[in-house]
Amino acid sequence: MTTTIRDVCAIPLEKNLDKVFKGGTYAITSRYTLVTEVHLDNGIVGQTFGGDEERYQKEVVNLVNETFRKLLLGKDALSVELLWEAMFHCVAPDLVNRGIHTLDLTNKAIIMQAIAGVDIALWDAIGKTQGLPLYKMLGGYREKVPVIAIGGYYWEGKDEKDFQEELLSYKRAGLYGMKLKVGRLSPKEDADRVRFARSVAGDDFIIACDANQAWTVDQAITFCKQVEDLNIRWFEEPVVWYDQLRGLSEVRRVGKIPIVAGQGEISRFGCRDLIMADAVDILNVDATIAGGITEWRRIAGMASMTNVSMAHHEEPQVAVHLLSSIPHGLYVEIFPDPNRDPMWFELPDKHPEIKNGCMHAPRQPGIGIPLREEVIERYRANGVRV
Ligand SMILES: [Mg+2]
Repeated sequence: MTTTIRDVCAIPLEKNLDKVFKGGTYAITSRYTLVTEVHLDNGIVGQTFGGDEERYQKEVVNLVNETFRKLLLGKDALSVELLWEAMFHCVAPDLVNRGIHTLDLTNKAIIMQAIAGVDIALWDAIGKTQGLPLYKMLGGYREKVPVIAIGGYYWEGKDEKDFQEELLSYKRAGLYGMKLKVGRLSPKEDADRVRFARSVAGDDFIIACDANQAWTVDQAITFCKQVEDLNIRWFEEPVVWYDQLRGLSEVRRVGKIPIVAGQGEISRFGCRDLIMADAVDILNVDATIAGGITEWRRIAGMASMTNVSMAHHEEPQVAVHLLSSIPHGLYVEIFPDPNRDPMWFELPDKHPEIKNGCMHAPRQPGIGIPLREEVIERYRANGVRV
């Protein structure tokens, strides 16, 4: 039996959330994700989930199920670099009309996310074929990674007592720290929230801040000054979308808090530009958005040459392996609230162990997090051709 690819498919999932979660620049009302599978001749099925794509989910799914499927059938799954190049340079998809408002970047983001799903499923299949857990196959630098919560969301009626209870729940859950949403209020008001969080959580708890591109350079620098005594581990996406190179670089230089960006990049080339502009200390590029494990590893190699550390935007099922596999990997992040991320709580048959502030990389071959078929069926998105 060989490692020839016999089938490739993507299944879109969707669930409306019971509560609205607001960050600096957005409100989350639903959770989306994409399950991608690669079936091999030897009976092994590479399987993964990832992404949280609403508007272009149908296009991503169709690209995998039609164009990429035809491209990959009959090919050897072990030739993952060859397959990545074939998908990356695929000229077949004419996805949508080119309009001024979507430009070409939307199409490229669709392609990179479709590649990501297939690439990660391929790596899972390769790990299962070799009998090796993914983090070992990729280098096996450590067995576990510190885990932090993504929280501090704004919601209607949230008061100081609710916030305090949220912070204490992360401590009780044994998490290493948290990433706190800022950017929806003024720099002073958000700094007061961070000060409150520090007073509740204590000094032995990592606190990072994420503005989701909400502020101007001046506002972001004002915020940095307001929180300079609060030991902020990093400041993530502090600056508005149109000022991502010079703006980030300026906040980094003057604000003196390590800067994180990269979750909005879809390829290694965008990450290169962030590094070359002295804009980041840490890249949190997301393998489920930006071309999968193959592209993430290339970015991690480049980062290591420039003393930039690697984080990962959400997606702990993949992040725990990637961050465990390299020396300069930092924290894996989760949504501890099942209302915010029902996919993480419900899809896996078994979750990675969290103990003493760390998430342990699964030791089963591949990703080592099998998915529950009944949950895939429960949240299968309607109206999307698969
Ligand atoms: Mg972020």
